[in-house]
Amino acid sequence: MANFKATKQPANFLMKTLLVTGGCGFIGSNFIRLVMEKEEDVNIVNLDKLTYAGNLDNLEFIPKSRYKFIQGDICNKGLVSKLFEDFNFNGLINFAAESHVDRSIDGPSDFINTNVIGTLNLLEQSRFFLDKNEDSNFRFVHISTDEVFGSLDKTGKFQETTPYDPSSPYSASKASSDHLVRAWHRTYGLPILLTNCSNNYGPFQFPEKLIPLMIINCFDQKTLPVYGEGVNIRDWLFVSDHCRAILEVFRKGKIGNTYNIGGNNEIKNINIVNRICSIMDEMYPQKCVKRYADLITFVKDRPGHDFRYAIDSSKIYNELGWEPVESFETGIKRTVKWYLNNVKWWRGIQEKTYKQERLGI
Ligand code: NAD
Repeated sequence: MANFKATKQPANFLMKTLLVTGGCGFIGSNFIRLVMEKEEDVNIVNLDKLTYAGNLDNLEFIPKSRYKFIQGDICNKGLVSKLFEDFNFNGLINFAAESHVDRSIDGPSDFINTNVIGTLNLLEQSRFFLDKNEDSNFRFVHISTDEVFGSLDKTGKFQETTPYDPSSPYSASKASSDHLVRAWHRTYGLPILLTNCSNNYGPFQFPEKLIPLMIINCFDQKTLPVYGEGVNIRDWLFVSDHCRAILEVFRKGKIGNTYNIGGNNEIKNINIVNRICSIMDEMYPQKCVKRYADLITFVKDRPGHDFRYAIDSSKIYNELGWEPVESFETGIKRTVKWYLNNVKWWRGIQEKTYKQERLGI
């Protein structure tokens, strides 16, 4: 159990206490690990509902003296308000979301509840808290996606000013939440920052998403399902590069601003799958499979499947000096190695929740 206490800190409390929501998921848990490693004077309260995507094992080795986990829903007004009262937060970083496009097509309401109503509740509780603590230097960072911009043709990149045009229930719910976040700044002066990031990959990603699914299916010698003809293009970013970007935005970003974050790594899905297969051929050869690429199967395309995403990250580079350090080649090798070294982690998830027909990006 955490040692640091829920005491009412004065507003000029020097040690930062952050509320991280959704910290047991893929990006949130990588972010908490990064902050714990880099920021010695920061305490974190992690509020997570532990949906199918939340996993306490992701944060098993976090030093508990500066970290507290609260299981709960971001939609719960009483709980979030009480956390603000008890911990006097210096910042809120909102990762909590329903995040899988295929699931949003099958059942959109959870996406509206968490992504829209949940974000509304966090904005409202932050506003009420700031009304009572005017001199606080609190910041609200909302983590969003490039999917809010819709699909690109063969050319062009998403800029911060690109109009929103979401295609899926997931991206529409994230777009709605982004609009709320900006409106709370313009109407109530809430000190917000917003990030829209491209596709992430790396350690601790839930096995339903494209890259871990392909690694795991190679491992298990199962078919590798690829949507349509595999020509859809995404801009891939290694998760720790995303987390560093969020930390920079939290520390130095201009209040009220949005920052696009991307890897400058536009790759077709089929090329990703082929690259994973060739790395697996080298790192994990199995007698009964000659080439893992022989397991590739093309399946019916996802409805409303956006063709191409690409991010222009020049604003965050020019203003905050952030750029990715991991190339796709080094990042994908690290990722394959991580899944090969952590079979227990993904088998545990798979045995409880994995559905074979799911695939995703
Ligand atoms: P994830 O699905 O792995 O994790 C989401 C976490 O939120 C889980 O721990 C879950 O338990 C928690 N959660 C869900 N509903 C909740 C609720 N009502 N209350 C409290 N906690 C709740 O997602 P992720 O991939 O880590 O994505 C995190 C954020 O980053 C999301 O907002 C997503 O839209 C955004 N994003 C993701 C990517 C990507 O490639 N994964 C890219 C850009 C942006």
